[in-house]
Amino acid sequence: MVTQHRRRALVTGGSSGIGRAIAESLALDGCDVGIFYLGEPDEGRPVVKAIESHGGRGWMHIGDVSDSGQAQAAVDSFIAEFGGIDILINNAGIFRDHVIWKMSDEEWRSVIDVDLTGVFNFSRAVAPTMRSNGGGAIVNISSINGLRGKFGQSNYSAAKAGVIGLTKTLARELARSNTTVNAVAPGLIDTPILDAMPETERKKAVEEILLGRIGTAQDVADLVVFLCSDRARFITGEVIRVDGGQYI
Ligand code: NAD
Repeated sequence: MVTQHRRRALVTGGSSGIGRAIAESLALDGCDVGIFYLGEPDEGRPVVKAIESHGGRGWMHIGDVSDSGQAQAAVDSFIAEFGGIDILINNAGIFRDHVIWKMSDEEWRSVIDVDLTGVFNFSRAVAPTMRSNGGGAIVNISSINGLRGKFGQSNYSAAKAGVIGLTKTLARELARSNTTVNAVAPGLIDTPILDAMPETERKKAVEEILLGRIGTAQDVADLVVFLCSDRARFITGEVIRVDGGQYI
């Protein structure tokens, strides 16, 4: 990706955990960064402040990735504000675990809607501008559970596997307009999403991680920043695990 201006990045789920680390790291790498998330204004403000303290222009918008109208409106407003978009990070995600015989329609649908349809909504909204403005980079946050499945996560694993299929198709569709599309598949990462995880389950997980620890949001952000940089210009349609060897 060759750009003359500061790169303009939009991070969904940028108020917390992995998304927040990505937003701040992209700012440190020289980007202006907008975050889109579902929550209170107070959750996003410190992130915007951090982006600005790293020298980038910050922006925030509250909404639901699973609502295509809200996704389009947010992308339109970002483009109006920044004059274009070079980087999209589809990171927003939730989980609602239950074994399949106990999973409700609502648990199935909400996870598919946020974790898979949300990626579609934002990718479709940015594609015309990336196509007409000389290209860009899209990074989708999947999960190792989209590669291997996980007990109790039929909804989440299906959504995250779907993200991989979507990534490969978008890589094909957008390559001619110089846009790379890749997926990152984290293993267990220490973020607020893990707050509800019992200590025994954490210990069990650490035992299967070759590098012997739970990952940090920064471990993921460092890879994402690389994939958005010119150094990754010949990488597209790829799925890269960042899991300390949890799944090999
Ligand atoms: P987190 O709960 O700390 O942050 C989730 C973010 O997504 C928040 O900003 C939240 O506002 C936003 N969000 C949730 N639902 C939304 C919606 N409907 N619309 C807009 N924004 C919404 O979680 P995290 O651990 O940082 O997870 C980030 C991503 O990484 C998710 O896609 C998750 O599935 C994936 N992931 C996490 C882990 C892990 O162990 N933490 C492992 C693999 C993949």
